[in-house]
Amino acid sequence: MPDDCLFCAIVAGEIPSTVVLDHETVFAFRDIAPAAPVHVLIVPKRHIADVRDLTTEDGGVLIEMFQAANEIAASEGITESGYRLLFNVGPDAGQTVFHLHMHLVGGKPLGGVGPG
Ligand code: AMP
Repeated sequence: MPDDCLFCAIVAGEIPSTVVLDHETVFAFRDIAPAAPVHVLIVPKRHIADVRDLTTEDGGVLIEMFQAANEIAASEGITESGYRLLFNVGPDAGQTVFHLHMHLVGGKPLGGVGPG
């Protein structure tokens, strides 16, 4: 784990967060600056910088991230209304934290492409 990784510190409990889900390999917490009524970040506990670093060995944890998203959507009551899952990758996408994270955004009608 890199010393300066914010989300590694959140996963480790060194920085407080509002935890939504804590599974063996996946962790989820509420975004500190929500773009919609539901805005949760789903991360692998193991440090992966971003989508560009994924390998076939990460297939299992990726599936678990999507399963976590469906589980959280159900517990937030937005399974039927729908939600958006997105990954920002690199500067043009505005990625600010370099620990892989999937945004789960919902709870209101969302516009075009974007977090909400
Ligand atoms: P991205 O722009 O895709 O890298 O997303 C990073 C997200 O992390 C942003 O939506 C931030 O609001 C969120 N964020 C930054 N610091 C924290 C924190 N301490 N707790 C929860 N969310 C955070």
